[in-house]
Amino acid sequence: MLPNLAAWLSHRLPSQCLACHRWGPGGPLCPACMQRFAPAPELPRCSGCGQPWPASLWPEPPPPRCGACLRQPPPWQHCHVWVDYGYPWADLIARWKLQQHPALAAHLARWLLSSPRLAQALQQADVLLPLPLSPQRLRERGFNQAAQLTQHWARHFAQHPQGGPHARTDLLLRPQHQRTQRTLGRSARLRNLHGAFTVRSGADLAGLRLLVVDDVITTGATLRAACTALQAAGAQHISVLAVARTP
Ligand SMILES: [Zn+2]
Ligand SMILES: [Zn+2]
Repeated sequence: MLPNLAAWLSHRLPSQCLACHRWGPGGPLCPACMQRFAPAPELPRCSGCGQPWPASLWPEPPPPRCGACLRQPPPWQHCHVWVDYGYPWADLIARWKLQQHPALAAHLARWLLSSPRLAQALQQADVLLPLPLSPQRLRERGFNQAAQLTQHWARHFAQHPQGGPHARTDLLLRPQHQRTQRTLGRSARLRNLHGAFTVRSGADLAGLRLLVVDDVITTGATLRAACTALQAAGAQHISVLAVARTP
């Protein structure tokens, strides 16, 4: 089915909630489960790694960065995260990516836009860069999940009176296939990713506010490798955004 048609239908046909399995008015989660699980009020998070601050630290305004990010700053200015990677979001993301339900991207893209913090981060960017998949992974999956989100947001902001970012899939590239990161430890992940990302030659990134988009941050090693390649190519303003991060 065409992805746009699938998205259109999934907003309109009754569907079964992924969390409580009740039939509802359309959408992957029913309104009651959305209210229960969606992140509101929004958790304050470390601007370096996106980890939430412990509840005991708020409502005091927590410091912008955790100790680990102060000791070893990541190659980006700000890390924006919507939710912790857990129930029911982990199921939903797995269904989207691994069981090939690309229509779920439209729901996720809308949910993230409804967060004022994330909508602002998106609008303040000049260019959205979906984290690329290797050509082999792209063939296996059939779509790049991060590119689906950035396409949706670029379309959204194209109609916005104040404008917004463009999405580019031809700047940050991943020409070679790497072993899956899932089973590797931290140092093996970094070795595995060495040289994985390149930037299109001749790209002038210096003045652009770049926002690199991924679905899930696990250790952050992949985003680090991508952002280090962007820095080496002259990028000065890099932030990252993910739907979820492993707590
Ligand atoms: Zn439900
Ligand atoms: Zn941190």
